[in-house]
Amino acid sequence: MQAKLPVVVIVGRPNVGKSTFYNRIAGRRIAVVEDSPGITRDRLYYEVEWYGYKMQFVDTGGILFGDEDPLVEQIRVQAEVALVEADIVLFMVDIVSGLSAGDQELAHRLRMIKVPVFVLANKADNRKRADFSSEFYELGFENVYPVSGLNGHGVSDLMDAICEHLPKVESLPMVKEEVRLAIVGRPNVGKSSILNAFTGEERSIVSNIPGTTRDAIDTLVQYKGEPFRLIDTAGLRRKGKIQGTVEYYMAMRATQALERAECALVLVDASEGLTDGDKRTMKLSHDEGRALVIAINKWDLKEDVKATGGRLSPLKKDFLKIIHDQVPEVKYAPVCFTSAKESSGLEKVLDHVLMAVDSWNFRIGTGHLNRIIQESTFERPYTSKGKQLRIYFATQVSTRPPTFVLFCNDPDLFHFSYQRYIENCLRKVYPLPGTPLKIIPRARTSKDD
Ligand code: GDP
Ligand code: GDP
Repeated sequence: MQAKLPVVVIVGRPNVGKSTFYNRIAGRRIAVVEDSPGITRDRLYYEVEWYGYKMQFVDTGGILFGDEDPLVEQIRVQAEVALVEADIVLFMVDIVSGLSAGDQELAHRLRMIKVPVFVLANKADNRKRADFSSEFYELGFENVYPVSGLNGHGVSDLMDAICEHLPKVESLPMVKEEVRLAIVGRPNVGKSSILNAFTGEERSIVSNIPGTTRDAIDTLVQYKGEPFRLIDTAGLRRKGKIQGTVEYYMAMRATQALERAECALVLVDASEGLTDGDKRTMKLSHDEGRALVIAINKWDLKEDVKATGGRLSPLKKDFLKIIHDQVPEVKYAPVCFTSAKESSGLEKVLDHVLMAVDSWNFRIGTGHLNRIIQESTFERPYTSKGKQLRIYFATQVSTRPPTFVLFCNDPDLFHFSYQRYIENCLRKVYPLPGTPLKIIPRARTSKDD
């Protein structure tokens, strides 16, 4: 069970001081966005705690705008983000430069928002400046707070006021844990089509979870009595109307969906073969330590022959080999062949997802783990620069995904290829399909320490 945090979105034209304000209040960063073309590593979501109140801040300053994006466009996107995400909006203006046309434009758009809007008259570094904040009542919102992100003036009062609008952590609604699945992949691979197939009537869609704006983006589906939460389905459905910078925002949001997910379903378009974008998405899921199932969609477009006896057809075998050769780190991921169009292969996908999540939660007993590792190192000892690697003891420190700490004489000796060998030995006994395994070498001087 986990609490759902209320979402606070900060908006404001460039240079009013949003980033500075963030740095003052932000706690743990909870979203990291991948390095890949079109997506830059950037901060976007922060969890903030204030005297027993928890909230999630969304930094619209984290959306990168090109120089060619006019101010109006930036304001439009920010307002859209606020509209989709926010439980509370912080609208930041600059007391030094005074009220501007950009502020008026943003105010105009924010008036449609149903949630509370706080105007932050920033750069009120001293009392004299703070007096000028009354000018901003003209924007038409009743809460105007003079603050200084730079020296912290007024920030406590503001946070207290925000918290008056929030439920305490212990009274936040709790949600039953479901299998949290993120459907990801390049544009046009068929994500929305698969989603629609999953939520089709025959599989009984339970609900678009009601409640806050944020809740409405996930979809609950039942399969074989198991509840699945399809994460951020709004992000999938909304596409089409979205271009330019908003599309970029949606890409970041897909990454955030992955962060909230237990399992990623990475879709590949069979008619296009395995592309660099597909590989990147798989690696991202791997690096994030998520369970992973791969579906090669649009298989109806391939002229495949039916193989008998539960075997794969040559065409499927070829596809599988390409994935294994080109993305060897995700060899553990089951690969399914689907057609959203013909609604085929979909149940198998969900079966694999259930299995992958089980693997992801799996724990190997310490005794058995150590026996497997001893046998592996005995069978193939590892020596580098004249020194032999000795593994004294292994323990599984966590699940989700299974993570093992191996105490050894010298972690530097523990070459990556040998880690992979150990992983393969573990998987011979425990195949654990669908989950990455993490192996962490640690130094220890002797077995008896
Ligand atoms: P953003 O574009 O809205 O994220 O704005 P930044 O946080 O980058 O701030 C823009 C400029 O305003 C920087 O030079 C900051 O140092 C300055 N600034 C931000 N907050 C304050 C403040 O409270 N007082 C003063 N005097 N300057 C500030
Ligand atoms: P998304 O951008 O990943 O959400 O992709 P969509 O679900 O919008 O699908 C993109 C296009 O591919 C649409 O024209 C779909 O009709 C088509 N499509 C999706 N799945 C399949 C499939 O399994 N077979 C075929 N032939 N077309 C598909």
